[in-house]
Amino acid sequence: MVTENTAVVVVGGGPAGLTVAALLRRCGVDCVVLEVRSREHIEKRQRAGIVEYQAAEMLAGWGLADRLFAGAPRSGRLEIRVDGTVHVLGDDAVGGVLVPQQVLVRNLIDTVLDEGVDLRFDAAEVSLHDLDADRPTVRYRDAAGEEHTLTCRYVAGCDGFHGVSRASVPDGALTTSSFDHGGIGWLTVLADTSPYPHPMLSVSDAGYAAQFARGPAASRFYLQCGSEDTPADWPASRIWSELRDRLGDPGLPTGAITETEVFALRSVVHDPMSWGRLFLVGDAAHIILPLGGKGMNLALHDADVFARAVRAAVHDDDESGLRDYTGVCLRRVWRYMEFCNWLLEATHDSGDSSRVGPFRRGLARARLASLTESPTVARHFTDLMAGIG
Ligand SMILES: Cc1cc2nc3c(=O)[nH]c(=O)nc-3n(C[C@H](O)[C@H](O)[C@H](O)COP(=O)(O)OP(=O)(O)OC[C@H]3O[C@@H](n4cnc5c(N)ncnc54)[C@H](O)[C@@H]3O)c2cc1C
Repeated sequence: MVTENTAVVVVGGGPAGLTVAALLRRCGVDCVVLEVRSREHIEKRQRAGIVEYQAAEMLAGWGLADRLFAGAPRSGRLEIRVDGTVHVLGDDAVGGVLVPQQVLVRNLIDTVLDEGVDLRFDAAEVSLHDLDADRPTVRYRDAAGEEHTLTCRYVAGCDGFHGVSRASVPDGALTTSSFDHGGIGWLTVLADTSPYPHPMLSVSDAGYAAQFARGPAASRFYLQCGSEDTPADWPASRIWSELRDRLGDPGLPTGAITETEVFALRSVVHDPMSWGRLFLVGDAAHIILPLGGKGMNLALHDADVFARAVRAAVHDDDESGLRDYTGVCLRRVWRYMEFCNWLLEATHDSGDSSRVGPFRRGLARARLASLTESPTVARHFTDLMAGIG
């Protein structure tokens, strides 16, 4: 059994955990990051594609922009196609950085390792103890089978929705608000095909579809489907035919499909985002609808708030930032929950009225009309996409 001490144990090496580690390093606070999977595995996990403007500014403020996304293109534009008519929303002046999540993760790993952060992959059987005591402990078994006990001042639970951190909080200590959005699913498709110049959302009677760049020669497509569908229900021929219909683009180029997945849309918020000396960061605390591209960006925001609060606690013995952690993070989380829910209803209830009935379809169409016809609504939408305002 190896026994060690550090200021913060970070559980999970996704965008949240690696960002916490990079920021704590800049604050002169020691930490150990425990990641259950291998480096190779997490560097390949494809999900988000855009660091929003506000999160990019935050990372630049910490001096991380060059390491994390130097040279990556910026875009603040978005196209929304309603019954075949294209409306361009947004403003490149508040453009996000087009950096796929796996590239961000790879760059974060290179950065923290170069800067001497203690990042441990293949950490099995992670367990959290004495979270309400002055010195919590975190135990795990390394790849060679040796057991470790880390004693620390704070634990950052950055291990995603299914991780061990939130599961270590006693029953009843957190309130869970969740919503399953009436059985809407998304088929996500990764394909080797050049993307449109801007992200594209498309709404028509054929249903909702979207396309986002994942590099210059790869695209991520999303198609609204039933939450009970499986990838087997969606052979390549059906995918391309539905995409052509829904995107209103008969000439849509096809390419090899490298990944398909169906997931049910849901929203979940846990409150508070802490218990004792454990602080939940990112998906461990909240899951947001994927449209709007906010999940990873909320994780980056939480990481920033947490690192600043720990800096004050460790260097100035001031725990007020940690006491305020939930309030500061959840204000932003709820704002984007509302935004993504608004966008979901506007885009997914606008199609076939047999799913929602004519009243909700009418409301959804009115929302889309406000978005595409009112500069004020469009500006508000753009600010929320950029993460500002
Ligand atoms: C298909 C899809 C598309 C998405 N698209 C977007 C998008 O366009 N824009 C956007 O902003 N967001 C998007 N998201 C959401 C985004 O990917 C997440 O919000 C983001 O990954 C959250 O980061 P995280 O670090 O909190 O959690 P995660 O990325 O889940 O990382 C958690 C880490 O903890 C590790 N871990 C788990 N359990 C343990 C344990 N017991 N011990 C140690 N380590 C553990 C995991 O291996 C993982 O590395 C998408 C998600 C999906 C599924």
